[in-house]
Amino acid sequence: MRKTIIAGNWKMHKTISESIELANGLKRELFKLDTQDIDIVICPGFTALAEVTEVIQGSNIQLGAQDLYWQKEGAFTGEISSLMLKDAGCSFVIIGHSERRQFFSETNESVNKKLKAALSEGLTPIVCVGETLSERESKKTFKVLDDHIKNSLMDISPEDILKIVIAYEPVWAIGTGKTATSQEAEEAQKYIRGLLIKMYNEEVASFLRIQYGGSVKPENIVELVSEPDVDGALVGGASLKVDSFSEIVKLASGVKK
Ligand code: PEP
Repeated sequence: MRKTIIAGNWKMHKTISESIELANGLKRELFKLDTQDIDIVICPGFTALAEVTEVIQGSNIQLGAQDLYWQKEGAFTGEISSLMLKDAGCSFVIIGHSERRQFFSETNESVNKKLKAALSEGLTPIVCVGETLSERESKKTFKVLDDHIKNSLMDISPEDILKIVIAYEPVWAIGTGKTATSQEAEEAQKYIRGLLIKMYNEEVASFLRIQYGGSVKPENIVELVSEPDVDGALVGGASLKVDSFSEIVKLASGVKK
């Protein structure tokens, strides 16, 4: 059985003090949940990582970042390395989010380099893939998934692939309030698992966790994670409030027991 994973992507929101407040609130609300049943991850902005690490220390909440650069160190003004993230207390990092692909020229090639850098430092990458609205409407969803999965995961060994999490995030559902139906999510995620069988094998594909992301909220989380290939969620907007994110985590933790 794959362990459910719920991750909150705080994007470019929250000052350091607001981040501490949110992390404290989540810690209070979620302390009863067993990490045997669910992985809970929060991904604040870079400036708040070190402070939030202190807040969640010893709790059932893990820390993630929203991006990294693939070089270990050097003259790369404005960038953050996997070593720096590890040092700030991160164990996860989101890579290839559609907003980075859309606004910051992220490509499958850069995603692949970042993925390797994260793995080399022992960080768990959450690799985002998914189609835009026009790609879905022109029936190119599977073609886009082929491209994102094959090229983002290029040359990743069967041993390393087991250390990553994939997030299927249809771009048209991100921040729009428009969620994919649970059937649409399952169809795409089953397809991704099929690709992983072809690229690796049944065992690897059945082990790997695939989250859904796109307007996840307390009202739709149970239906989504009830699907066999939906192993959790990457949550944007609803992760910014204690009530909605803790509700999503609590509801999700009961589904696959
Ligand atoms: C996201 O940005 O990864 C996301 C899924 O956002 P939202 O939940 O706000 O759609």
